[in-house]
Formats: sequence, structure tokens, C-alpha cells
Amino acid sequence: MSRPVVFIDRDGTINEEAGYMNHIDSFKIFDFVPQAIRLLNINNILAIVLTNQGGIARGYFSEELVLNIHKKMLEDLSQRGALIDRLYYCPHYPKGSHPLYGIDCDCRKPKDGMFKKALKDFDIDIKKMFVVGDKFTDIELGENIGAYKILVRTGYGKGEELEIGKRSIKPDEVCDNLLMAVLSILKKV
Ligand SMILES: [Mg+2]
Ligand SMILES: [Zn+2]
Repeated sequence: MSRPVVFIDRDGTINEEAGYMNHIDSFKIFDFVPQAIRLLNINNILAIVLTNQGGIARGYFSEELVLNIHKKMLEDLSQRGALIDRLYYCPHYPKGSHPLYGIDCDCRKPKDGMFKKALKDFDIDIKKMFVVGDKFTDIELGENIGAYKILVRTGYGKGEELEIGKRSIKPDEVCDNLLMAVLSILKKV
């Protein structure tokens, strides 16, 4: 049976924004995140993380570090009873110095490449899709895939909220954080 899905941004939404995350010790998950993910789990809603990690292509940090951070993140959350169904990351950046990843790919948000992968890997109810993130990139992704778009006021979100009036693509809703976003989503599915 197809399931609703929440596509969740990583930096500034799940963990504290630390600019380019160049050390695993800089990775700190917000306190409210395990509860938010658990609520999705018990309501049979897919929790899928989509994250741009263009710093790999730009040579700011290694892919190995990103993989280690993701392993730690998924382990920390699962120890607290919160299951991320899948995580997809884009390592690319146009004109990045990396020999393989310095390209204009089709997966860097707001492009829909990671969403298309998820669509193949899971049985998704495309009428019940949500995107939650702290940047307009996430909101634009939501627009591109036809999802309900929630901007959160963590990470870059408060600054982005000030710019909403200037933007043609606007969030459907602005919430204080991922937990508040999930509570709102639960009323809609
Ligand atoms: Mg972000
Ligand atoms: Zn990419």
C-alpha cells in the first residue's frame, strides 16, 4: 500500500547548521528530532532525508566524512527509537574541483533527481507528499515535485522567512521546527 512521505532536509532542519560540516564533532542533532521522526514512524509515514552535500565536489570535506556523519546520525536516531527510512545525498556542485562530482547534476536540490530515486525505491502516495526544510531550495524542490511545502525557523529558516515576500515560490506553511511541522502534517494525512 502506498504511503505518505515527508522529505526532510538535513542541515538546519535535523542538525544545527554549522556552515560546512567539516568534522563529525560539529554534527549536533536538535533535541526535538527523535520525537518528530518517531511520530512519522508510528503513523506509517515515510521519513526520507534529502541533502545537498556540494562541499564534497568543492573539496571542502571528503565523501568519507559525510558517510560517517550519516552513519552516526542514523545510529543515534535509531537508538532513540526514530527510524529514517532512507537518506539520499547529492555530492555534486557545478564547477566543483572534484574530478567526478564537479558537474551540473540532476539531483542537487531544487532539482528532483533524489526524489525520483525515492519514487523508485518506495511505494509513495504522491498525493500525500511533504517537504520540510530551512531554505528556499527546499521549498522550490517541494514546488517541483508537487509536495506541500513547509519552511522551518531553524537553521537559515528565520532569515529565509523574511524574504518570503520577494519570492515567487512560497512555502505553504512556516513552522518553528521539524516537530511542529510533523504535528501539522499529521493533521493533513
Ligand atoms: Mg538546510
Ligand atoms: Zn547531484
